[in-house]
Amino acid sequence: MQRCKAKSKRSGEQCKNYALKGWGVCRMHGAHGGPKTREGHFACKKAPCKHGLYSYAALQDLKSCRKLIRGSKSMIDQF
Ligand SMILES: [Zn+2]
Repeated sequence: MQRCKAKSKRSGEQCKNYALKGWGVCRMHGAHGGPKTREGHFACKKAPCKHGLYSYAALQDLKSCRKLIRGSKSMIDQF
């Protein structure tokens, strides 16, 4: 598995977490809807990312997003 490409600001050492596929960074460093969202992110394709706007598609995205988070949490528990 690929390692997260983010580096610590204090020590300059590379993040030791595993990167998520297609992101190059771990969950802590912006993968899956973090502050560093990029174009083409699955949640932004179907519905605009605006506060207070919850279309059916956005709700479906939210559900799949929660599933992903739950999945990655159980993955972390295995380590
Ligand atoms: Zn990281």
